[in-house]
Amino acid sequence: MRIVVLVKQVPDMERVKFDCEAGRVDRSSAGTEINPFDLNALEAAVSIQEQLGGKIITLSMGPAAAEDALKDTIARGADESVLLSDRRFGGADVKATAKTIAAAIKKLGGADLIFAGIQTVDGDTGQVGPETAGYLDIPHISNVDFISAYSETDITVVSNVMEGSYVKKSSYPVLITVTKDINQPRLPSMKRKLSARKAHIPVWGYEELQDYIREDEIGLQGSATKVKRIEVPPAVTRKGQVWRENVEEAIDGLVEVLKKAKVLEV
Ligand SMILES: Cc1cc2nc3c(=O)[nH]c(=O)nc-3n(C[C@H](O)[C@H](O)[C@H](O)COP(=O)(O)OP(=O)(O)OC[C@H]3O[C@@H](n4cnc5c(N)ncnc54)[C@H](O)[C@@H]3O)c2cc1C
Repeated sequence: MRIVVLVKQVPDMERVKFDCEAGRVDRSSAGTEINPFDLNALEAAVSIQEQLGGKIITLSMGPAAAEDALKDTIARGADESVLLSDRRFGGADVKATAKTIAAAIKKLGGADLIFAGIQTVDGDTGQVGPETAGYLDIPHISNVDFISAYSETDITVVSNVMEGSYVKKSSYPVLITVTKDINQPRLPSMKRKLSARKAHIPVWGYEELQDYIREDEIGLQGSATKVKRIEVPPAVTRKGQVWRENVEEAIDGLVEVLKKAKVLEV
């Protein structure tokens, strides 16, 4: 069984700044972490591997610094990692990102199971997982928050979409995107952390993928969308009023406020 887990290194969203003029996230303005949902994806893979055996490979497309995120996945249970990094991959939108990831999975020889997070905390489109499945021409199941059964040949999961809970079964290969409710990612042991530091992470650029994807399908050239402008919305400031002592006074006060706001007409 070969399990691939897609992992994106994301900026710390509490601290990151936006370069509104250039229309991009200023990734140098904050620290980075593994997209939280991808830790759930990795945990799902590790739990399955504990029962069925096989190999877990984590895959990330990003700058050289994403090697740290991949080393962290090795500390948390992955067997191998591959970093997709090349200047020519820069400026990729979700289409070019998914195509490049799919090309790398083809180069790996395919996978039985592919896990991804439901979304990232920075881009937040939730499209990379399903689009990757599309470019691999395999089925996908999204929004999975429970794995009810799995075997060497198939997997049964609960997918929560639009307030409905669906039990879905798929044979392999299949790509699954997971929510935070699926599990509690375990912490890496000190021993694994130390050995992960020494792990060699192969870096694949366009040269390594050229049998699987054309150059005009990667990076900016391969992107169907262009960011025209990026804006940080002004912080919303709300005025509050608290009545503590007298209930009648509170009701009168509230009625006045609602009348002023034209919510009540009395
Ligand atoms: C025109 C345009 C230009 C852009 N230029 C840049 C740029 O120059 N630099 C830049 O960093 N971003 C750029 N982006 C953003 C980039 O497209 C997204 O970061 C990327 O497509 C992932 O989308 P997302 O974050 O919405 O992922 P989602 O679809 O929300 O992610 C879902 C899951 O897919 C997997 N996944 C997502 N991204 C990756 C990845 N890179 N590697 C491995 N797994 C992944 C993870 O498991 C994740 O949980 C650009 C976007 C656009 C539209």
